[in-house]
Amino acid sequence: MTDIIHQYIDGSWTDAADGNVAELINPATGEVTGAVEQGRQSDVDRAVAAARRAFSSFSRISPAERAALLGAIAAEYQRRGEEMALAVTTDMGMPLANSRMAVGAAVLQFSSLAGLLADYPFEETAGSHLVRREPIGVCGLIPPWNYPAMQMAEKVAPALAAGCTVVLKPAELASHAGELFAEIMDAAGTPKGVFNMVLGRGSLIGTALSTHPDVDMIAFTGSTKVGVQVQQDAAPTIKRVSLELGGKSAHIVLPDADLQAAAEVAVAGVMSNSGQTCAAPTRTLVPRELKDEFTRLVRQAVAALTIGDPRGEVNLGPVASEAQWNTVQRYIALGIKEGAQLIIGGPGKPDQADAGWFARPTVFADVTNDMHIAREEIFGPVMSLLWYDSIDDAVEIANDSPYGLAAYVQGSDPGLVRDVASRLRAGQVIVNSAYPDLMAPFGGYKQSGNGRIWGNAAALDEYLETKAIVGGIAARETADQATPRPAAAL
Ligand code: NAP
Ligand code: MG
Repeated sequence: MTDIIHQYIDGSWTDAADGNVAELINPATGEVTGAVEQGRQSDVDRAVAAARRAFSSFSRISPAERAALLGAIAAEYQRRGEEMALAVTTDMGMPLANSRMAVGAAVLQFSSLAGLLADYPFEETAGSHLVRREPIGVCGLIPPWNYPAMQMAEKVAPALAAGCTVVLKPAELASHAGELFAEIMDAAGTPKGVFNMVLGRGSLIGTALSTHPDVDMIAFTGSTKVGVQVQQDAAPTIKRVSLELGGKSAHIVLPDADLQAAAEVAVAGVMSNSGQTCAAPTRTLVPRELKDEFTRLVRQAVAALTIGDPRGEVNLGPVASEAQWNTVQRYIALGIKEGAQLIIGGPGKPDQADAGWFARPTVFADVTNDMHIAREEIFGPVMSLLWYDSIDDAVEIANDSPYGLAAYVQGSDPGLVRDVASRLRAGQVIVNSAYPDLMAPFGGYKQSGNGRIWGNAAALDEYLETKAIVGGIAARETADQATPRPAAAL
């Protein structure tokens, strides 16, 4: 890691237009770990121009050549995987074991899309016309900091697979991970201008990308509040905007579920990465008659969690920043004030780890769905337990949310599980597990977004435009199936 992190534009490391930097802080220790340049509009302009120049050639290379590039990136990412895991852990405090898993997920994005390119139908004839799926153009990619190793990959990999060129703006809290990501892209032989990285304040660099007339698409992952801003900023230039936003995912424990397993899933899902997971099952819905037993099991599982230096073998590191810690404290206080029952955890820092921004894994019971802690995304290690009286009641509570990112169902009757899953208004429903499936499409209903990531073809589709070629050669080849065209009317 270098002391000051610079911009990567048009195939070279370059200084930002002015010399301002922001300090980077390890949230586990409070130590300064380096500094990141604060890019400006002119840096974005340079990066977009480089991406535009590169697009004219990169968009026309064959899928096989793009697959070879993705394969080279996957190999280089794998080779530097341990460095990336450490960078993430230093940047935002994720326990190293989780950082390593996220690196594996990132490598999978590149390698699985490389595989898909072998037989993806970029061109198909349909009746008398040809349908081509073409890269949309220059893409501004804006990921958050909570799983940065994976979130940069899950945007860059499908964009390049489609033949797009990109300008990435990593989250400031993931700046070392961003720097290493650019080094990987460079070492893998990514052609000049295809991948560019501009660093700086989200509001400035993000807005410069969202409003830029020469950017064709923005892929954004982050809070719903900023997502709304991005959509508004992108509207005057009619960009495609793919949004992956916040969540308040429901977890329905059915009456026939294995309660011990369900409690473990609930705790793992909410508490891993200190609750900073967009898809975390933060609202656990339990049959009222099972509430005492389930609460006991959850308390037991939370009491067993270890907290501390995220480079060690712990379940929880710190939250990512002082601001994030303050947000978590505000919601814990709000839960107490609103009359939820504090089962374990609570305000302040845990005894065993009081340096750094550590929060206590906290569980509230007797939560009702109108409380702030049930409606708003906390993005910290705070679980809400709610009681339900019938399956219909559970589905209604689950769907009564402005969000619809993920949902979870625990149960042993496959028919009932599938029925409940199909009634939930969420983009990925996870059955008897705490973890999403990266090979399945993932994204939000309602205010959780409008895009899809992962799922190979689902992710690729986000970055493609559809073109129909009618008449001419396409029509001649299929003349016998030609349909009459009302040319005179057009
Ligand atoms: P955030 O504050 O919304 O920031 C997200 C990204 O946008 C960062 O790179 C940020 O840069 C940048 N940004 C800030 N202001 C901007 C603006 N005006 N225009 C364009 N970009 C701007 O979110 P966060 O705190 O980083 O991440 C947590 C949120 O992400 C949570 O709500 C979580 O649910 C959501 N999330 C969703 C998914 C999903 O797949 N749906 C996955 C993970 C996280 P700086 O940080 O450098 O300021
Ligand atoms: Mg932020």
